[in-house]
Amino acid sequence: MKKWNLKKLLFALVMILVLVVVPLSLYTLLAPKFRVQTFDEEIKVNIGSSFKPNSGSVCYGNFFSCESVQVEEVGEVDTSKTGDYEVKYRYTFEGESMEKEQMVKVLDLEGPTIEVKSEDLTYCPNGKVPDYEILATDNLDGDLTSQVKKEGKDGKIIFSVTDSSGNETRLEKDATEKDDIPPSLILNGDATKYIKKNESYQEEKATSNDFCDGDLSNQIEISGSVDTSKPGEYQIQYKIQDSSGNVMTAIRQVFVYENNNYNAPNGKSIYLTFDDGPGKYTENLLNILKEYNVKATFFVTDQGLTKGYDQMILRAYQEGHTIGLHSNSHSYSIYTNEQTYFDDLYAIQAKVERITGAKSYIIRFPGGSSNTVSESYDGGTKIMSRLTKAVEQRGFRYFDWNIASGDAGETTNTNKIVSNVISSLGNNSTYVVLQHDIKDYSVNAVRSIIEYGLSHGYTFRALTMQSPVVHHHINN
Ligand code: ZN
Repeated sequence: MKKWNLKKLLFALVMILVLVVVPLSLYTLLAPKFRVQTFDEEIKVNIGSSFKPNSGSVCYGNFFSCESVQVEEVGEVDTSKTGDYEVKYRYTFEGESMEKEQMVKVLDLEGPTIEVKSEDLTYCPNGKVPDYEILATDNLDGDLTSQVKKEGKDGKIIFSVTDSSGNETRLEKDATEKDDIPPSLILNGDATKYIKKNESYQEEKATSNDFCDGDLSNQIEISGSVDTSKPGEYQIQYKIQDSSGNVMTAIRQVFVYENNNYNAPNGKSIYLTFDDGPGKYTENLLNILKEYNVKATFFVTDQGLTKGYDQMILRAYQEGHTIGLHSNSHSYSIYTNEQTYFDDLYAIQAKVERITGAKSYIIRFPGGSSNTVSESYDGGTKIMSRLTKAVEQRGFRYFDWNIASGDAGETTNTNKIVSNVISSLGNNSTYVVLQHDIKDYSVNAVRSIIEYGLSHGYTFRALTMQSPVVHHHINN
């Protein structure tokens, strides 16, 4: 039974082969028709390039002989714009025709270019690369320099950038691994600080940035301390080291001062003197002096700017400052002769007495005793040589100065005034400082001058008839 069935099946298979497969194969090989050997259904074209129609290889005939056909294409491709374009090809042979469609994709296939102009390239041990002079441009996107990624590794820096169409360009350059740039170290707050005795010192710390390591602020080592119970100078040291061992240091100077004690035994003394006032800024000045218990000397006048500030003369006097006499008019014509000089001097003396109830005999010549401006008024009579003697004979004492703050024309900068004064201080016993309280930039310098003086062992004093005199050389 089984054997018979197998035979029958085999016979059927052979019959199918002979009747179906063989004729079909013969037909395929022999029947004439359009024969497509090669044809791309889809092709990619770079933007900006010219498009050449690609109809592939199509012929008409059979397996053994195939004749070329007439091809005509339909459709347009704009290669200046990205997009999908359909192109049709019509193949014609003796009245027979066939069409095929092709998708032409206009794409940006061109990556950006990278140009590295810098030489001797280096990179950080962690791969970070400095801002070298580079230029990246793309046919479509234009300048891509800011988007270039850089990484240093294994003796090379790899620059890479990708355009908006996804084309990536990579450029490798030989480079050296190197980090010899120390981190920055910037103190928060003032580099010089003044603290009143027994007030607390607040550590404001510092900020550090390193090219390779980034923000290192919380790794700064801070050493040194401030004992605010002891007046004097202290230093706080700041040190930062980057991962390559580059070190940067900074120092903060802290001065602890005690309020002025003008009864202190003789030592280094500073006599702050203020000419040409009182004026608009005298009240503020008196407030500052009071804060530190500093006594000063005011050489007053009665000229334009001082008008209306008589109350400040009284307040200064009542608060223990010395009211000295500068000039009533502050006009250099007072140097015409002795009479004109003393008329003016007695006028301001009388005014001060009216306000304070006390006669002052402490004076300062306008322009100082060394002035030569008096030569323009005295007719060649050497008025200063005579006046400096005459005032003493009449019971006055005149005081010049040995530190000019620079506020009389040299500068209007408060910091400069401070440095002019404190850089002139040394270990002598008497420093007479010339300032003008009609100038805000000079009054604003007083606090720093006092804090510096107090923390460096100076005592601030007001001039008295017993104070050591500082006299200039007489030039007229
Ligand atoms: Zn003056």
